[in-house]
Amino acid sequence: SHTAELIAVGTELLLGNIANTDAQTLSKELSALGINVFYHTVVGDNPDRLRQAVDIAKGRADILITTGGLGPTCDDLTKNVLAEAFGKKLVYNPEAAQRMEAYFQKLHPEAGQKMTENNYQQAYLPEGCTPFQNDWGTAPGCGFEAGGVHVVMLPGPPSECGPMFRARAVPYLRDLTDGVIASRSLRIFGMGESAVEHQLREQMNSLQNPTLAPYAKEGEVELRITAKAEDDHAAQALIAPVERELRERFGPLIYGADVPSLESVCLSLLREQGLTLSAAESCTGGLIAKRFTDLSGASAAFRGGVVSYTNEVKHCVLGVPQDLLDQYGAVSEPVARAMAEGARRALGADLAVSATGVAGPDADDRGNPVGLVYVALAWEGGVHVRAIHAAGPRERVRTVAASHAFDLVRR
Ligand code: ATP
Ligand code: MG
Repeated sequence: SHTAELIAVGTELLLGNIANTDAQTLSKELSALGINVFYHTVVGDNPDRLRQAVDIAKGRADILITTGGLGPTCDDLTKNVLAEAFGKKLVYNPEAAQRMEAYFQKLHPEAGQKMTENNYQQAYLPEGCTPFQNDWGTAPGCGFEAGGVHVVMLPGPPSECGPMFRARAVPYLRDLTDGVIASRSLRIFGMGESAVEHQLREQMNSLQNPTLAPYAKEGEVELRITAKAEDDHAAQALIAPVERELRERFGPLIYGADVPSLESVCLSLLREQGLTLSAAESCTGGLIAKRFTDLSGASAAFRGGVVSYTNEVKHCVLGVPQDLLDQYGAVSEPVARAMAEGARRALGADLAVSATGVAGPDADDRGNPVGLVYVALAWEGGVHVRAIHAAGPRERVRTVAASHAFDLVRR
């Protein structure tokens, strides 16, 4: 099996200004592919020390992945050093230059903004390499093979590194393995990463093919099953029993497979059933409406929303009874209920969700703790309220609250 080493290039990593999150991202991806990662190396923007690190790495790994140092500001440090270390010339790649020009055009359509000479430097790539088109930034990456070592170069910004790996490096590395790599991603909402991991630890450790790896994000967990096999059919046959087992174990906590988000699952369900949705939002400040309307096709299901941040708006616009607000306060089950009912009525929707809570950083004047949020769903047959206790800073509390609102809808 293959052994990979990650070399992160960047003085800011050594100074402690930023953490090496690219290594974390890539390590997770590689382990899901069944590729062992034995070393993480970090070097500054220094050609001699990078060269030393590369020379060591190529003696102990057969896949070498670099991150950073591809941009126009670094004199193409990484490419120069890697090309030299593996005896390759850098050659101008007109296609890569054209793609960068197109990216610039998209970014600066007002014209006048021309690519600089520095940018064109990025179009020089090691001879014979497979260029990796960068749809998330400018600097292209690449992959090449020399002396039995496979070299992959990726840009440093995390918003480019992860997507480039998945979209460009994985298909490139796949050619190394005989056969295909297929994966299935099950999405879980309503259970923390550590609880999921705890339940799966034994299974994760015992599984070789397929592998099973959890990824946590914003209160959600993604479980990725990855299989290597002769062809796709055989890979799917390896994945299927593991998926069945996971579905049995987690039941309705799994909200979808190979789906982008909770809200997209809601939209599909609503469209299937011809139902409409509206929202009454306090602490989420429009985030529910925002996330839902980020989806193309949302207009088929979304009627609208009210950001009722004050009690006055809750009362006057949504018709929340004043005595409920006085007696229980805005952050309470009865008010969440009345907000959802009010939004359903006022906005003429089949379903309405609401969220009212304390996003932080301070507790509210009734002593409700940060992170306490009531979300509700009103439908023809009644209202369902859920009390949640979200941990973390303001932004996370709001995101988790909005996710719970979508979770109510899809159930
Ligand atoms: P650019 O085209 O943006 O210059 P680059 O490939 O040259 O990309 P760097 O200049 O090394 O990459 O890094 C750009 C930014 O990406 C850094 O300022 C840093 O914020 C982030 N970054 C770089 N390496 C890493 C890493 N290993 N982990 C997390 N973030 C990183
Ligand atoms: Mg740079």
